[in-house]
Amino acid sequence: MDKPAVRQALDEIARFLELKGANPFRVRAYQNAARAVMAFPGDLGEGLRSGELARVRGVGKATLEVVADMLATGRASALDELREAIPSGLVEMMRIPGLGVTKIRQIHDALGIESLPELDAAAADGRLAGLPRFGPKTAENVRKGIASLGRSTEFRLYHHAAAEAASVGASLAALDGVSRVEIAGSVRRRRELIRDLDFVVVHRDPAARDAITRRLRSTPGVTESSGAGGAVTLRFASGTVADVFLTSAAEFGLTWLRATGSAAHLARLESRARERGVPLTGCGYPEERDVYRALGLAFVPPELREGAGEVEAAARGTLPRLVEESDLQGFLHCHSNYSDGTTTVAEWADACGRAGYTWMGLTDHGPAAFAGGLKAEDVPRQHAEIDAVNRASSSFVVLKGVEADILADGRLDYEPATLDRFDFVIGSIHTRFGMTEAQMTDRVLTAMDDPHLTILGHPTGRLLLSREPYAIDLERVLRKAADRGVAVEVNADPHRLDLDWRRVREARDLGVTVSIGADAHSVAGMANVAVGVGVARKGWLEAERVLNARDADGFRSFARSRPA
Ligand SMILES: [Zn+2]
Ligand SMILES: [Zn+2]
Repeated sequence: MDKPAVRQALDEIARFLELKGANPFRVRAYQNAARAVMAFPGDLGEGLRSGELARVRGVGKATLEVVADMLATGRASALDELREAIPSGLVEMMRIPGLGVTKIRQIHDALGIESLPELDAAAADGRLAGLPRFGPKTAENVRKGIASLGRSTEFRLYHHAAAEAASVGASLAALDGVSRVEIAGSVRRRRELIRDLDFVVVHRDPAARDAITRRLRSTPGVTESSGAGGAVTLRFASGTVADVFLTSAAEFGLTWLRATGSAAHLARLESRARERGVPLTGCGYPEERDVYRALGLAFVPPELREGAGEVEAAARGTLPRLVEESDLQGFLHCHSNYSDGTTTVAEWADACGRAGYTWMGLTDHGPAAFAGGLKAEDVPRQHAEIDAVNRASSSFVVLKGVEADILADGRLDYEPATLDRFDFVIGSIHTRFGMTEAQMTDRVLTAMDDPHLTILGHPTGRLLLSREPYAIDLERVLRKAADRGVAVEVNADPHRLDLDWRRVREARDLGVTVSIGADAHSVAGMANVAVGVGVARKGWLEAERVLNARDADGFRSFARSRPA
């Protein structure tokens, strides 16, 4: 383990603690330790064993633990746990140049902002400038900083890219002579990480194509452009790169198909076209279906176009009928003001009812949660509140759930008598991410032996672009889940998207039941569900295999069916 990596971990711990409002002395201790570790002349492992590192000024017990942890496992549990307790959007804000931790805390506390798009909106509409010690100049710099993040990182998260695609798409649609605009590429295929945006633009009149190309280049926010004729690349001030394919209505289908990809999917289609002597280019396919039909294939939903057997299935007529958001009857995995959420039980029930759900499963954190959980003695009070909300409605029911911590030894963080009081239990790992694969797998398999466990939450612990999954033999976990009737979650928090869609497909093939969990900490987080459904679809999942596509009774009987 090299010193810069340890220093970086210690510095990050200091910043996260500061973001959480920890004691300034504790924050400074980590900052000092980071410097001391860098200045240590010898090898860190040697220094740890000989006790020499412990004698260095500025290096305390907590620092030694971080060093030992990183030497043994390559990661710092203290950092992993802090990451768990801080909204991912705030962590993203820390990468905005010039925006220190103090200001981020101020933004979060005063405006309740937890994500970059919310921050950008507040910078644009004057709320940010109105904060003490901010002003219009700072707000402007924040907007520039958010834009520069787009430039500096190669990949961005799906939900950021999809929001950007929607807004770029709207500007393109407003151009004179454009009759239709569609998003294509990896956003349409719902990849979890996106590099560039792709669009197909239909012109009204082929003769006007060059004029439209010129207008494309002057779309608001475009700073650079290249290409000509049918394909133009636009570079926006926000850092976004968009490939725009111009086409006529008569050839729209083939153009959209090609612009959507993937390369592997298209290669399978091209070779099928050759085998069957079906010409593609220049044949006028107004809709994608027309291309598939010409090739003797059923329509392949964009999420499946990864060259992973979908063309063969389309030929055999065995493509799955993918789950849709409207199939979901229940809303699962959300936190209320009993743990680290902001929404009350009644507000949750109201929002879910209005969104068209017939039931919801409330799941605050258990008592071991770093983020602050529901203590066993508070469970009766929460349940009385849920009962009261349920009495007030005949058409909607709130189920009593919890997101229990899976402790290091595989036990859940309530006594069995307390667990008995819940309708269902999600079990998740929020601590000790650095265990070996064998230890971590045992930990999770042990938890699955507990008949209280209904759903395994975010099964690999990854945070996209910021934390690797923990080491675990997922295949053994999935096999046991299928065997023991434990559902596995697709956590729809856009920073997690865990289970990964590739493993969702594996879970499906093994016969595992999957739940789509919003992991929402406020009503705004309900939008996560759509992203989670995208992951489920990308994993070939049908509604029959999705736990919250069942009605409340069906869900309850699944939860109760765990063998003791
Ligand atoms: Zn969790
Ligand atoms: Zn959660």
